[in-house]
Amino acid sequence: MSRIVYVNGRYLPYAQACVHVEDRGFQFADGVYEVCEVREGALVDEGPHLARLGRSLAELAIPEPMSMAALAHIMRETVRRNRVRNGLLYLQVTRGTAPRDFPFPSPEIERTVVCIAWPRAPDLLEAQAVRGIAVKSLPDIRWRRCNIKTVMLLPACLAKEAARNDGAHEAWFVDGNGFVTEGASSNAWIVLDGGAVITRQIGPDILSGVTRATLIEGLAKEGISFMERPFRLTEAQSAREAFITSASNTVMPVVRIDGVTIGDGKPGPITRTLRSKFHQFAAISVS
Ligand code: PMP
Repeated sequence: MSRIVYVNGRYLPYAQACVHVEDRGFQFADGVYEVCEVREGALVDEGPHLARLGRSLAELAIPEPMSMAALAHIMRETVRRNRVRNGLLYLQVTRGTAPRDFPFPSPEIERTVVCIAWPRAPDLLEAQAVRGIAVKSLPDIRWRRCNIKTVMLLPACLAKEAARNDGAHEAWFVDGNGFVTEGASSNAWIVLDGGAVITRQIGPDILSGVTRATLIEGLAKEGISFMERPFRLTEAQSAREAFITSASNTVMPVVRIDGVTIGDGKPGPITRTLRSKFHQFAAISVS
């Protein structure tokens, strides 16, 4: 089936979907984005993703390109036109196109808006969740405003490539004090021996994950004890369970960190329960 991409007001065939060479997203990574899960044709946690997009835009003083309702319409329309039942939706907004110069151009210029949706086979992801994934740790070399979801993803690309070369599926960043910040494209969690679930508190050193926030609500509903605090790699390696969260993985078990087996090397019961119940906690859009 041919793919359709939304670019600046038009739904275009994939091969014709382009932005200008002087788009500030291309030249300066001056843009923000969101990735949403598409499940049974509906967007998962659409509202919180749009709210975070609004916060990212505000942090960078990029004027909203249109109302959030109009963006939601584009997201749903992109899913619909691509007939995606299960997959992912990508939405990007950049400051727009202007002659290359570091300071911001006039706020009057049109922002660039791109929306793409693609299908994914749920059984492949499920098979991975049954096995669990390996993680590789790396120093966190990112900037100090990781709470903004910018398209400046080169540290994440380098980390993911290093992880892949080591047979790992995700990289965990470690700060200067030896504490795990988050994954290259996910939030990091551990489960202690007593069953308490731990993840780092939000702040400028991590992205406030939408999946993370939804799961925290779910933990309360399930009566699972939960604490927000930093943890070291060594604590994670001796934890009973570990997992990551992101829109593209929901809850994904981690079974190895830097070659050290977590628990008995299989996804643990709390992680499995949280994964299986995740969509009961999340908001599913109805179009
Ligand atoms: N941290 C980083 C650095 C990420 O890139 C992502 C995925 N976008 C996450 C955390 C998880 O965020 P979410 O649950 O909103 O997908």
